[in-house]
Amino acid sequence: MALTYTSRPMERRPLRAPKGVEDVYGPEAARWHALEDRFFEVCDLYGYRRVRIPVFEDTELFVRGVGEATDVVRKEMYSFTDRGGRSLTLRPEGTAGVVRCFVEHHLDQAGLPQKLAYGGPMFRAENVQRGRQRQFNQLGVEAIGVDDPDLDVEVVALGWRFLADCGLEAAALVVNSIGRPDERAAYIEELRGFVERSGVAIGADDRERLRLNPMRLLDTKDPAVAEVVASAPRLYDHLDVESKAHFSAVLDGLEALDIPYTVDHGLVRGLDYYTSTTFEYVSTSLEAAQNALGGGGHYDGLVEVVGGPDLPGIGFALGVERILLAMDAEGAAATDRSTADVVVLQAGAEDEVASTARGICDALRRAGVRSDRPYGGRSLKAQFKHADRTGARFAVIVGARDLGAGRVTVRDLASGAEATVATDDVVAHVTAATGAERGDP
Ligand code: AMP
Repeated sequence: MALTYTSRPMERRPLRAPKGVEDVYGPEAARWHALEDRFFEVCDLYGYRRVRIPVFEDTELFVRGVGEATDVVRKEMYSFTDRGGRSLTLRPEGTAGVVRCFVEHHLDQAGLPQKLAYGGPMFRAENVQRGRQRQFNQLGVEAIGVDDPDLDVEVVALGWRFLADCGLEAAALVVNSIGRPDERAAYIEELRGFVERSGVAIGADDRERLRLNPMRLLDTKDPAVAEVVASAPRLYDHLDVESKAHFSAVLDGLEALDIPYTVDHGLVRGLDYYTSTTFEYVSTSLEAAQNALGGGGHYDGLVEVVGGPDLPGIGFALGVERILLAMDAEGAAATDRSTADVVVLQAGAEDEVASTARGICDALRRAGVRSDRPYGGRSLKAQFKHADRTGARFAVIVGARDLGAGRVTVRDLASGAEATVATDDVVAHVTAATGAERGDP
């Protein structure tokens, strides 16, 4: 395949990241890591093990799995033909890939349910706006292979617990049941007829939804169509006794765990594979158009669609960018923005000063203390400025004069208090002081 771009020789125009794609750097990057770490810690608590799935897959996985009628497949996929002529797609979501992995590696043989957690970038060619990017990040879990309302409760609770751990108080849980495809079949025709008989003017986009999957109309952006749909018959009334019993057991379980929820029978999720229990976590601190922190539900036909056995599944995906926006809006849980606890400075350019500074910094790091050096032979004033920028609590100052006596100075950068400490005792001194900072016994 020939390269399709040309670059003029000696072009030095500054390059920018593509539209809808964001760099994460500085303290923000530390915040991301902390958030992801916390998510996988919660997953660990609930017995969900990490799975790493590829960033691109055969296009067919998403066409079959996510569904041809969805906005994601119709308009938003980043698909390309590789050098071998295969059609590949950057993953727009994680569930299809996790299920493909489950099927391909026969994970059902390792015992059911398989409880898996994943995270990483997803790609959708969307209209870019605040909280809506073309490359965005999700954290998610999937529990595959067992149909038990209590497992639904566990999955919903895990996400809720994580959002609470993020300090999000303005989060709310919305739940619904959309039943099985056979329960939906009659309803879909009824809804189509209802909307057509209403005589409402339907735009091109909604007309396509009406043709491919009238249930997608429940998500319409056209207020006139939304009004018609709001007065249409409800899918929930078409569910059988078994489906309703499952749903009511899920609600009982949520109540038993003190997880507040609202039932919204109009909640339909954007991807076709959903069945039965569906849910969304929303934030009342974000604008309504982008207030979904995440969502999920059952996908009871998906394992089979991907070529595996007839097994149920349930999971959710949370949007990392949205969670961070909500945390900002709520002023929740400020993260530590420092990059070091101790900075080792040099008063003098003598070889012995440099080698002692290097040795102390290394010894501190070995002892588990985050430590840094300014480098570059800068003035002591500039080195203190560097120490400030790292947010460190202590500076160790190595100077030729003190070194002769086997000592260095340790300065508390908050109070300005200084102590003279034997070179060999620096690690013990600093670990005791930083330990006390953290409130360790
Ligand atoms: P979905 O896979 O569509 O159910 O999305 C799950 C969550 O991912 C949403 O609730 C958002 O928090 C997040 N999300 C989905 N699409 C985007 C996007 N284009 N930009 C940022 N976050 C997104």
